[in-house]
Amino acid sequence: MNMIDTQLKDFCQKNTIQNQQLNMARGNPCQEQLDLSNELLTCVNKMNCITRDGVDVRNYGGIDGINEAKDLFSKYMDVNVTEIIVAGNSSLNLMYNALALALIQGTTNGPGWLSQGAIKFLCPTPGYDRHFSLCESLGIQMIAVPLNEDGPDMDIVENLVKSDHLIKGIWCVPKYSNPTGICYSDETINRLAFMDTAAGDFRIFCDNAYAVHHLGNKGTQIANLLEACKLASNPERAYLFGSTSKLTFPGAGVAMVAASEKNISYFRKQLGFQTIGPDKINQLRHVNFFQDIDGLMTHANLHANILRKKFDVILDVFDQYLSSGNLASWRRPDGGYFISVNLLPGCAKKVVDLAKTFGLTLTPAGATFPYGYDAEDRNIRIAPSSLTVEDAKLASEILCKCIVSVSSSVHPN
Ligand code: PLP
Repeated sequence: MNMIDTQLKDFCQKNTIQNQQLNMARGNPCQEQLDLSNELLTCVNKMNCITRDGVDVRNYGGIDGINEAKDLFSKYMDVNVTEIIVAGNSSLNLMYNALALALIQGTTNGPGWLSQGAIKFLCPTPGYDRHFSLCESLGIQMIAVPLNEDGPDMDIVENLVKSDHLIKGIWCVPKYSNPTGICYSDETINRLAFMDTAAGDFRIFCDNAYAVHHLGNKGTQIANLLEACKLASNPERAYLFGSTSKLTFPGAGVAMVAASEKNISYFRKQLGFQTIGPDKINQLRHVNFFQDIDGLMTHANLHANILRKKFDVILDVFDQYLSSGNLASWRRPDGGYFISVNLLPGCAKKVVDLAKTFGLTLTPAGATFPYGYDAEDRNIRIAPSSLTVEDAKLASEILCKCIVSVSSSVHPN
C-alpha cells in the first residue's frame, strides 16, 4: 500500500465509513425527493376517478392516454396534443417498443430494419448506459460518436449517415444529457433535423428524460426537434420520449412518446396489440397532483433545491482536490442527474475498483460507452442524488483521494 492509500485508509477510518456503503452509481432520487410527491398516494379516490370526458379510469380503454394527461404532457414535451401518447410507467420501455417495432415491422416510411441487413445506431459518448445495453440486447451494432459541449460531433454524424443506409438511428439526450449535463445548441438540433441520410427511414431517438430538470434558477431552453424536423421536410424523423420518473416516483411515474401525427397513429395501432389500455388511474393521479404545467414546473424547482446542494458540495470538493495537477476534468452541469469526470487515460477502472474497497460504489467504468468499452479508460459517472449532503461530501473526498492515488501510480511522472 503506497503512502496515499495509507492516508486514504486513515481518512476512511477517521470518518467511520469502514462498514458504511456510499453509493453514487445510479440516479435514484433520495427519500426527501420522493416525499415531495406523497400526495400522489392519495389524490385519486372513489370520489374523483372519472375524467373530464366521463371516462371511469378504473376500467379498461383509452389506449393513448386520458385527455387531461395528453394536455399536460404535450406542454411538458412541447408538442401538439395530437402528437403524443401518454402510456405506462417507463419511457425506456417505450424506447424498447419503438425499436422493436422498427426492427420487426418497420417504420411509416420503410420495411422492417431486420429485413434490410445488419443495422447500426450512432451513440454519442459518453452517454446513457441503458440506451447502449438496449441496442446490444437487440443485436444493433453501435458506432460511438464524440459528444461535444453543444451536442454530438455533427461533422462526424453527417458524414456517417449520408453514406450508409444501414445507419438507421441515433440516440440523443438533448437536454442535460446523461452523464455530461450538456444541452444541444440550436445549430446541432437543426443539423440533426436537416442532415441528408442514406436511410430514408432514419430515426432520432430523442430521450427527453431531463426536460425540466434544471439545477440553476432558470432552466436552459433548447430548440424544438420535432418542429425542426417538420421545417426540414423530415417530419417522421424524430421520436421523443419522456417520463415523470425523476419528478415523482421512479417506476410508478407516467411515460410518454411524442412524434409526428403519422408516427403517433402508427404507434397507437401497434400499442392496441400490446395492451387494452394504460394505467389511467396513475395518469389521473399525476394530473390531479400537478394540476397544470405551472404546477409541474414549481414541483421541478423543489427537486432542484434538494439536488443543487449535493451537486455543489461535490463540485466544490473536486475544485479543492483536483483543480491543480491536471488529474481530471469535469463540467458544472446546469441540470440533469449526473456529473461526468474524465481522468487521465488508463485510470477509470482502477479508480472505481479502489473506491469500492473503501465502501464507495460507482457506476462501472466504461458503462457510458457502447459495449462498456471506453477505449481510453477515462470516464466515470457520478450520481449525487441518493446521498445526503454530508455523505456526498465524504463520498467525493474518497473519490478524489482515489483519483490522486491511482493517477500517481498509473502516471508516476
Ligand atoms: N433516460 C435517461 C437518459 C435516464 O437517465 C433514465 C433514468 O435514469 C431513463 C431514461 C429512465 O426513464 P424511465 O424511468 O422513464 O424508464
